[in-house]
Amino acid sequence: MHRFEDRWVVSASDLVDVVECGHRVGLAHALAAGLVTGETSENGPRRIDRVRLTPADTTAVRHGEAHERRWLEHLRRCFGADGVVAIERPAPTLAALAQAHERTRQALAAGVPVVYQGALFDGAFQGRPDFLIAAHLDPVAGASTGPAVAGRYEPYDAKLARHASPGAVLQLAAYAAALPSVGVPVPRFMHLLHPAQRATAPEPEPEPALGVGVGVGVVRTFRVDDVVPMVGHARSRLADRLAAAPAVPEPSWAEPRSACATCAFSAHCARGRAEARDLSLVAGLRGDQRQVLRAAGITAVEELAAARDDQRPATMSPATFAGLRLQAELQAGQDATRTADDPVGTVTVRMTGPEGLAALPVPDPGDIYFDMEGDPYALDAAGLEYLFGAVTLADGELFRAFWAHDRAGERQAFERFVDWATERLRAHPGAHIYHYAPYEPNALRRLAARHGTRERQVDDLLAGHRLVDLYAVVRRSLRISQPSYSIKYLEPLFLPGARQAEVKNATDSIVAYESFLAHRAAGELAAADRVLAQIADYNRIDCVSTHRLHRWLLGLRGADGGTPRIDTAAAVDTAADAADDALVDAADDALVDTLVAGLPDDPADWTGDERARALLAAAVGYHRRENKPAWWSYFAALTADRATLESADDCAVPVSWTVVEDWVEPAGRRRRSRRLLQARVDPDRPHPFDRGEAVRLLYPGPPGAEGATTDAVVERAEPHTLLLRESVAPDGVARRPPLAVLPGSPVRPEPKPAAIRGLARRTADALPDLPADPALDLLRRRPPRLVGRDDLPAPGEHDGDQIAAVLAAVSMLDGSYLAVQGPPGAGKTYLAGRLIRHLVEQGRTVGVCSTSHKAIENAMLAATGQPPADPKPADTRAADARAADARAADARAADARPAWRPAVPAAKKQRSGARPASAASG
Ligand code: SF4
Repeated sequence: MHRFEDRWVVSASDLVDVVECGHRVGLAHALAAGLVTGETSENGPRRIDRVRLTPADTTAVRHGEAHERRWLEHLRRCFGADGVVAIERPAPTLAALAQAHERTRQALAAGVPVVYQGALFDGAFQGRPDFLIAAHLDPVAGASTGPAVAGRYEPYDAKLARHASPGAVLQLAAYAAALPSVGVPVPRFMHLLHPAQRATAPEPEPEPALGVGVGVGVVRTFRVDDVVPMVGHARSRLADRLAAAPAVPEPSWAEPRSACATCAFSAHCARGRAEARDLSLVAGLRGDQRQVLRAAGITAVEELAAARDDQRPATMSPATFAGLRLQAELQAGQDATRTADDPVGTVTVRMTGPEGLAALPVPDPGDIYFDMEGDPYALDAAGLEYLFGAVTLADGELFRAFWAHDRAGERQAFERFVDWATERLRAHPGAHIYHYAPYEPNALRRLAARHGTRERQVDDLLAGHRLVDLYAVVRRSLRISQPSYSIKYLEPLFLPGARQAEVKNATDSIVAYESFLAHRAAGELAAADRVLAQIADYNRIDCVSTHRLHRWLLGLRGADGGTPRIDTAAAVDTAADAADDALVDAADDALVDTLVAGLPDDPADWTGDERARALLAAAVGYHRRENKPAWWSYFAALTADRATLESADDCAVPVSWTVVEDWVEPAGRRRRSRRLLQARVDPDRPHPFDRGEAVRLLYPGPPGAEGATTDAVVERAEPHTLLLRESVAPDGVARRPPLAVLPGSPVRPEPKPAAIRGLARRTADALPDLPADPALDLLRRRPPRLVGRDDLPAPGEHDGDQIAAVLAAVSMLDGSYLAVQGPPGAGKTYLAGRLIRHLVEQGRTVGVCSTSHKAIENAMLAATGQPPADPKPADTRAADARAADARAADARAADARPAWRPAVPAAKKQRSGARPASAASG
């Protein structure tokens, strides 16, 4: 925000601040007015600190700018240097802002394809979208998608993050809402430009309208209407704030939230929390738990440490309260021992769950201590797992490193590590791979899927419990007096003084690897080697630390301090195999190898047919890979501790259980015993379940073993309670309450994997030719193949009757496909009904599929000339129809094309200019 003579001018990022953290807005307002806090320090009144960029921040900024530059260069290649007009950054004066705004308006009025860093300024708001691109242009293909409509532009922002944050979407919407100030109507769509592919955690994405992936990156499209109301709300909240006299918020810090990670005030707020001994300092205490405790009058670490049982908030379970109180007590104790000479103080440990230690496997000479390093910015921000480090025991701690510096190297390093580890575990059947926290197994899964290699070996390691997460063991069995359970914080207990080197943590290692890449690119090979040696040393210490932690944990367990681990690998294997029979089908590998044999290494060099072969090869294992995470999380939940389950979004750990109806024996045709349970959940952690949903109820297992689950159906789902009908075999009746409600078992994909495998086999047999097949037509991006003509029949050939044109096209298909698209209300279901009748009358068999049973039923009813099932109330239907009419009219105006029509495949779209659209069918 900027204060000019007579007014405040806010930016899109100020609006994001309103949404992400109102406290930040207050601090920025006070800082802009030059205020200081009411707090004092040794040097007098305390100023509000803005943090300077750390090396990690600088790295992120540099890569963000490079990502934006790549898109800029791509657009210049597509539309020519004259087709992209760049607006200079204006000086922070009203006159300069107005001039830049006017230059932007003129460029847009002239119909330039792309305006880069255009200035939008309406006197109170200023924004600079990375790109304003004419609405009829496809920035990915660099081509027109339809006739140009004068003065229609859409905003695009380049974002390095793969995840579309609410702030990024709000920022875009603010630009979209400000476009009328330069004579452009508010557009229907706005877009984020992400990097092509990231190697970091596979995150679930919010639901965008469309997503298109290409070499230069991924375009994620959002509907402006969905978000613009939030812009108005944020602007008015910000205006209210700025209308009031600036004042430093009291207190001048606020509780942590996700936005703190990138906030310029993070050090300021962190110091405030530390000085106030805020509850957020307690390791593992969540934000919602902090609120509940504060509401109960417990606001500081020491207060929680001294809290009585009767101070427990009603919505917090006794076990959770006791655990947090113990953590606070230990931390308060350690903090009391800190001095200037000994800033860490005395770290103490308390055993809370010996069964966690009992779960440790028996040590074996073949054990491996494993740690990986990754750089999310490498390879144009696509990310790279560049080091697989391992320590084994033979005459001391022997370190070995598997390095990768490009994508092909990543595959090789991954394969070499997995082969080496698998071979070692085969030679040492009692050995395990120890790691700390879930990064390593997640990365192994991701790499197996990414490179389509060693999937079975990785699966065997995971399903066979050969990877052991010592972090999970620590969390389940111990309380440590440190404010974090990162392994570095635990080291004073078993490896004091380990971190003397330059690279001390994961962030340092990313910065160091970036510096290695820069040295290497500059030809400074000696310097590059020096940096690599530092990273290797950091990684070695992590592996050694994992080994020493293991030894220390075994020492805590004592010679007879626990039951040996109960290895349930066999049971897991059985279930996993039943869940995914492709896992044991070695023929898949041979099939994939045949399909991809001879393809160039770089996908950019593939021809259309080669790309189709690669896609088909990837599809061979698709359902196996798709289902694996669900099964892994299924099995992970069986051994997870309460805190882990409580923090998971897909399950619920009720505060209390009530038996509403006790067990009823099987009777009549019912073979299972049933009971009705009511679960009351913490109101601050809403459960994720809906009425009618199939779920599982988790019963913790004995020490060291997995728990068991039973089936249940949600009979009623209210915000704070669940009514669950549990059913079990008669001999599985439990008298105790479950611990948690878990999602239902993953959906089994059969028979789709077999169908894909069949197509892959036919294709492999026909190579180097590709057989004529509708699925291959899609993968090859070929237009529908017709008998006797090349192009689809046009409605004009059938007196303008579009349905007749579709029926004619389907009748001419030469074993190919036809896609039909259209918005809701365009008549797709009616068309599907006519088409089904038409085909049945010709003696054909018709398969109908959809993601919803209702859509299938409606298509079948339409085929028999009946109205749709479960019609909506008249007013809802009318509203839907009006909305559909408006959308259709809007689409026609924007794209100058009918509401629905036979769709052309992507390759043809790129040539002819049709906008990519979501597929739609009856
Ligand atoms: S550090 Fe966190 S709480 Fe403080 S202003 Fe920034 S986002 Fe808000």
